[in-house]
Amino acid sequence: MEIKLIQGDITGQDVDAVVNAANSSLLGGGGVDGAIHRRGGPEILEECRALRASRYGRGLPTGQAVATTAGRLPARWVIHTVGPVHSASEDRSELLASCYRESLRVADELGAETVAFPAISTGVYGWPMDDGARVALSTVRGTPTSVAEVRFVLFDAAAYAVFERALGEAPPA
Ligand code: ADP
Repeated sequence: MEIKLIQGDITGQDVDAVVNAANSSLLGGGGVDGAIHRRGGPEILEECRALRASRYGRGLPTGQAVATTAGRLPARWVIHTVGPVHSASEDRSELLASCYRESLRVADELGAETVAFPAISTGVYGWPMDDGARVALSTVRGTPTSVAEVRFVLFDAAAYAVFERALGEAPPA
């Protein structure tokens, strides 16, 4: 699998699947979630509502992932995953790793070959970027998948630099 780092807006990525840093309600929010729904249009929210009604009445659990259409985005699917809120007193990195693993599993089920990830949990959910990058890169590298290309789309130059350094330091898969 090829791993690429890109600085930019995840909603503009021409990939098979874009991963959304969703919240468990699946009804939209700020950050990546807000941008995806704004640019992707109402079709995504409609499908999220249907998923809530049929399978996730109590919300999508943290660390799990589920796919919908991508509406008007250039992608074919959006894979919604719920990252953990960072905690100083409890190690929740296994839940963060689960977001990447489960998203890749859903991507495999869909037959997606190119997948774009944001830096899950590093915004409103407060995860430090350097640790978030390490978890993201080691999990994606360590997960067996038929996805051929994973793009990490980092919103700003600082996040890009942190991922670049972590990629250089990561042990080979
Ligand atoms: P979370 O609630 O999981 O922390 P956020 O959406 O608040 O999710 O933020 C996750 C990361 O995505 C942050 O580093 C944030 O700067 C970044 N981000 C926000 N909007 C975009 C976007 N349109 N494209 C790519 N990354 C984004």
